[in-house]
Amino acid sequence: MIHLKELDYRTLADWLDKQGQPAFRQKQIYEWIYGKFATSYDEMKNLPKILREELSTEFLPFSLEVVSRQEDDDKTVKWLSQLRDGNTIETVLIRAPKRNTVCISTQVGCKVHCVFCATGKQGFKRNLTPAEIVDQVVLASKEIGELVTNVVVMGMGEPLHNFKNLVEALNQITSPDGLGLGARHVTISTSGIPKGIRLLADQGKPWNLAVSIHAANDELRAKIIPPPHRAKLDDIKEAINHYRERTGRMTTLEYVLVDNLNASNEHAQQLADLAHDCHAKVNLIPCNSDNPMFAPPPPDKCEKFLGSLEKRAVQATLRMRKGKGIQAACGQLKQQVAKKDE
Ligand code: SAH
Ligand code: SF4
Repeated sequence: MIHLKELDYRTLADWLDKQGQPAFRQKQIYEWIYGKFATSYDEMKNLPKILREELSTEFLPFSLEVVSRQEDDDKTVKWLSQLRDGNTIETVLIRAPKRNTVCISTQVGCKVHCVFCATGKQGFKRNLTPAEIVDQVVLASKEIGELVTNVVVMGMGEPLHNFKNLVEALNQITSPDGLGLGARHVTISTSGIPKGIRLLADQGKPWNLAVSIHAANDELRAKIIPPPHRAKLDDIKEAINHYRERTGRMTTLEYVLVDNLNASNEHAQQLADLAHDCHAKVNLIPCNSDNPMFAPPPPDKCEKFLGSLEKRAVQATLRMRKGKGIQAACGQLKQQVAKKDE
């Protein structure tokens, strides 16, 4: 069934006309799906019942069926949603006093297979459609009764491996005719695909870019991201610089800290040099894994790593993990539910 959000304006206008409906119905429908985050036709009370019935036989109003919802003490909410084909994806809402950030998925699984990532282990199933991506923002906005303030594309999947649908979805999320979120409030996190980063830059939108770098030399990085999806650091650097030149945005380098792997003082020094080379800031993320091979360094060591970057004049943060109690890291909820089912 065609998704309502994937219909272009003209097609819906013509369809409504064919049903003998006045043109203003279209505005009402968009107001429901983008302004009031409606997920069913039943909610669209100002549409005639007959029209709601006709719409429901032709177009899908929402693509996600929530199969589990977990809320943590810090109010982080994590959903596992089933798609029409039975696959499941995760979405996380992270709340702060003035900020509601939704972390969305772009693929079922992922092809990249970073060693510490639960999503990578699940293998790759398929790309999400634009509507499946947009609907995660709708789900989170509906939860809080208003549009989220920020969207981070940091859930399951490598967004730049699903480039076309990602861009279509982001355009719908940021268009005044769609959800209308400011483009500067969107961040796309990638494992570092130079061609994709360049293409993204060429969209000319001030979306923020985050690159999961994890290591500042190719040899070490090879231990974290296996071939064939790992690019050379020099190529990634060039792509990041291109991104900045085209969009004016400063990139964030994400660095998952793993004890006895990439967390030494020397690694911090190399990372500082890399950050300077691409005028980037750094976000340190202590690894969150139950595999002892990928344990996070103790807190004082993480702080020391941070201090070492700051000493070299790199703008850096150490991410406090929200939603720890509900396993709010890449792909972990899905794994948990799968375990329960076994
Ligand atoms: N595929 C994209 C976006 C999704 S992953 C990417 O890799 O950037 C979002 C972030 O979570 C990435 O920086 C990724 O490295 C990180 N991540 C994955 N597994 C993790 C884990 N077990 N602990 C901490 N961070 C993890
Ligand atoms: Fe894929 Fe990102 Fe997980 Fe790596 S960290 S396997 S790129 S989702």
